[in-house]
Amino acid sequence: MRICILGAGVIGLSSAYYLAKLGFDVTVIDRQKGPALETSFANAGQISPGYSSPWAAPGVPLKAVKWLLQEHSPLKIGLKPELDKFLWVSKMLRQCTSAAYDVNKSRMVMLAEYSRDQFKLLRQELNLTYDDAQKGTLQLFRTQSQIDSIQKDMQVLKKLGVPHQLLSAKECSEVEPGLSAVQDKLQGGLRLLGDETGDCFVFCQKLKVACDSLGVKFMFNTDIERINVKSNAVSGVMTSQGELAFSKVLVCLGSYSAKLMNDLKLSIPVYPVKGYSLTVPVNNEQFAPISTVMDETYKVAVTRLGGNIRAAGTAELNGFDLSLPESRTKTIQHVVHDLFGQGCNLDEAQYWCGLRPMTPDGTPIIGGTSIKGVFLNTGHGTLGWTMCCGSGRVIADIISETASEIDVSSLSIHRYH
Ligand SMILES: Cc1cc2nc3c(=O)[nH]c(=O)nc-3n(C[C@H](O)[C@H](O)[C@H](O)COP(=O)(O)OP(=O)(O)OC[C@H]3O[C@@H](n4cnc5c(N)ncnc54)[C@H](O)[C@@H]3O)c2cc1C
Repeated sequence: MRICILGAGVIGLSSAYYLAKLGFDVTVIDRQKGPALETSFANAGQISPGYSSPWAAPGVPLKAVKWLLQEHSPLKIGLKPELDKFLWVSKMLRQCTSAAYDVNKSRMVMLAEYSRDQFKLLRQELNLTYDDAQKGTLQLFRTQSQIDSIQKDMQVLKKLGVPHQLLSAKECSEVEPGLSAVQDKLQGGLRLLGDETGDCFVFCQKLKVACDSLGVKFMFNTDIERINVKSNAVSGVMTSQGELAFSKVLVCLGSYSAKLMNDLKLSIPVYPVKGYSLTVPVNNEQFAPISTVMDETYKVAVTRLGGNIRAAGTAELNGFDLSLPESRTKTIQHVVHDLFGQGCNLDEAQYWCGLRPMTPDGTPIIGGTSIKGVFLNTGHGTLGWTMCCGSGRVIADIISETASEIDVSSLSIHRYH
């Protein structure tokens, strides 16, 4: 059975791998010259089921106002009026209730936990290394009110059996000795013992090689223009290389998925939320992180990836803008300097930005559509690296009409209708 996958980011690649393993004849198309050169290129490196939470949460609208006024703000909303942004924000605000948060968080943790387990299997199967580490992650709190507000998350983690520990500031610096010098700035932390870290770009390069050996065909430097549909069934894909005939198409275009689906009159609420990262070599082991430290105050994650520190964060709602202004990287610089300033020389940092494909409820959109043969695996937002293997595995189950190991009914686009 032939299938065309649109997009060679981490989601397209993992889908290609699992579909090829089931015997599908897979073609992957991407406009870049190789895999993972857009949002999957330099993310924060966290594989974090324990930190899988929707942004839409009770109290977030008020917090957002405070963040916008903060010097090192984790949030920026572009002033340019834009209908898609307005519609997306209003849908997101409707998800900021306690009841919606519980449902959304449970769905996200379910998929993320499953994905982490698939990562383990894949590592064994392919003997993969990708600057990966299985050392848990640490969410850092600088105020008592942050510790108080984490209690609800801990109840959900307990209910779902996700191993976690609430730590004092001293215990945080025992887990992450690089923090000893700044222990007095901290109130405590939440340790997520099952979380992992790794370099998404390196993983994608290696998964591409595994896909090659399963016979997956890649068409790089190829623009996808539209999906062709006849009598409500897909007939092919129009690209810069001409029209290609396919009766099954899987859309994994990250933030660009919505535009392609709009052309088919199928609306999917995926909006680009821009984030920034920096990568800097470690020059003093004693003051460097050993895994991910997530600074809750600034929403910046600082991760150890091999000999480097990768720090990433901030959320900017400003369309498809990919500029890299110095003013917006200051917050991540500030956090690295504040926590691990003696472990690296920030003058050597390299900067990057990417567009997170966000849904209003935080959960990705995985499954079929009302058009026969058109499937979606997109909208992974802040957690596409964490959820890639699970998402690839379940979309392969759905397309091959095999029962999945987790409940996938709530992941489809139908939850928005
Ligand atoms: C700053 C930052 C930090 C992050 N940190 C983490 C983290 O720590 N943990 C985590 O789990 N997630 C993290 N994420 C999120 C994660 O990186 C994304 O969810 C994930 O990379 C999305 O993968 P994707 O394959 O859906 O999209 P992409 O990687 O963007 O892939 C989409 C592909 O489609 C191609 N494409 C698009 N349009 C066209 C077209 N018209 N024609 C041809 N090709 C096209 C692009 O070239 C691209 O290769 C972070 C994201 C950012 C921005």
